[in-house]
Amino acid sequence: MVNPSAYSSPSDQKSTAIIVGGGPTGSLTALYLAQMGWHVSVYERRSVIAETSSTRRSFNIVLNRRALNGLEEVGVQLSPEKVVSIQGGIRHTVKQAKLSQGFRDSISIDRFTLAQSLISDGKNRYPDKINYYFNQKLLQINIQEKTAVFQAESKQHEETFDLLVGAGGVFSTVRAAMESQIEEFTVRQNTDNMLYKICDLGLVENFSGATKEWENRFHTWPGTQPVTLLAPPKIDGTLNGVLILPQEGEITFDKLQTEEDICTLFKEKFPNIFPNLDQAGLPSHFAQDLLSQKAANGGITTVCNQLVGSDCIVLLGDAAHSVWPSLGQGCNTALESCRVFANTLAQSNGNLSVALPTFSQIRKPDVDAIAQLSEIGFGGNKRATSTLFIAKVLILMLLHKLLPKWFHKYALLQLGDANVPYSKIWQQSQKQEKQLLVLLAVVIAIGPVIWLALQIS
Ligand SMILES: Cc1cc2nc3c(=O)[nH]c(=O)nc-3n(C[C@H](O)[C@H](O)[C@H](O)COP(=O)(O)OP(=O)(O)OC[C@H]3O[C@@H](n4cnc5c(N)ncnc54)[C@H](O)[C@@H]3O)c2cc1C
Repeated sequence: MVNPSAYSSPSDQKSTAIIVGGGPTGSLTALYLAQMGWHVSVYERRSVIAETSSTRRSFNIVLNRRALNGLEEVGVQLSPEKVVSIQGGIRHTVKQAKLSQGFRDSISIDRFTLAQSLISDGKNRYPDKINYYFNQKLLQINIQEKTAVFQAESKQHEETFDLLVGAGGVFSTVRAAMESQIEEFTVRQNTDNMLYKICDLGLVENFSGATKEWENRFHTWPGTQPVTLLAPPKIDGTLNGVLILPQEGEITFDKLQTEEDICTLFKEKFPNIFPNLDQAGLPSHFAQDLLSQKAANGGITTVCNQLVGSDCIVLLGDAAHSVWPSLGQGCNTALESCRVFANTLAQSNGNLSVALPTFSQIRKPDVDAIAQLSEIGFGGNKRATSTLFIAKVLILMLLHKLLPKWFHKYALLQLGDANVPYSKIWQQSQKQEKQLLVLLAVVIAIGPVIWLALQIS
């Protein structure tokens, strides 16, 4: 990959880019473009993200090498006070808490803090190149004319652009406009049937059996179907829990109506989190906080037939390729896409008619692959912590250890390896599924024969 900073202003023109969305994707793309000499306007429909983060429900996300490479390449240094460097994983079962090597070389960061940090960086480093507009919402675009209309309070205004970056997340307005104005552009979205709420699980050191090693780890509770709880670490030593429940069935958010219901759920499924539940009850506000929250839909995969439109639009991040959150790859994929796009643009010397189709061609196989992986391949929300899923993983890991020539490293363990494209991981996972099926067939076929032989002898 070429470092985009090696290139100066695109064709020496004063090219203007409009970025719709000041989330992680839009804010990182602004830095890349400014570094290449573009004049950038970032429009964010919310008020200054710094202000909203305290009032909005935020949660920590885990970023691996795919995202970190993008941040580092453009010179972003996240302050150590805002980031937890993850030391591994930990799986809690009724019997034990098992430490694992997973999530190493990853960080945990509040997702609004991430966007805020990138915006502050842009304001400090490129005051003449990037303008940020908050409380301004994209209303419509005219792709042919290259104009965009924004709404700020009661006023509307129009802007022209050379490049429009759609980074407005899963319900992107830019993408919707592309669908209606570009005949050959199509989108498929698939919604998972799981809902999530965020909860503050308190200090890890208060969990029953906690040791120093439990800190700075990503916590999971396998075997608690149909409930899933995933908890990345926060900088203050507490855990940020994402509680995921199906929309229908025995346990749903609709059926959790009282503090007692929540108490029962945690006692049954996650007994080590609040060990003195019978005596002390839940921490104050815990139940109220959970009950008053609206359950959010966690998983929508977005698959576009192309990531670009005409010779002036690129979709990046969730707007282009949102995925179900169970594999923790949404933002990693998003920031990796920003890096691939910036490098493609730099290699094309800012020529959009070359860069845009090239980017779409290069990137689509990988974003399609991660969508498939998150959707059906492994561990959609329903399966990420299921006993069957974990058994499958353990068998494949054992087979790799015993017969490394025949069985490669378990495909999904490479999600955090930026050198392995998602498309390769998808191919490998498909192969491993087939290998397991063959193995199962052999066991079923040979098992009775061996049993019979043993009986006869
Ligand atoms: C429960 C959960 C856990 C997750 N955990 C992880 C994880 O561990 N690791 C990981 O990599 N990913 C994770 N993700 C995914 C991650 O949060 C997203 O992939 C990431 O936030 C995408 O960033 P984005 O900037 O593309 O979109 P967004 O974060 O959605 O930002 C889009 C921005 O655009 C603005 N906007 C929208 N429309 C307009 C408009 N018309 N005009 C102006 N502004 C507009 C919005 O206000 C918003 O600020 C998780 C997601 C969920 C739901």
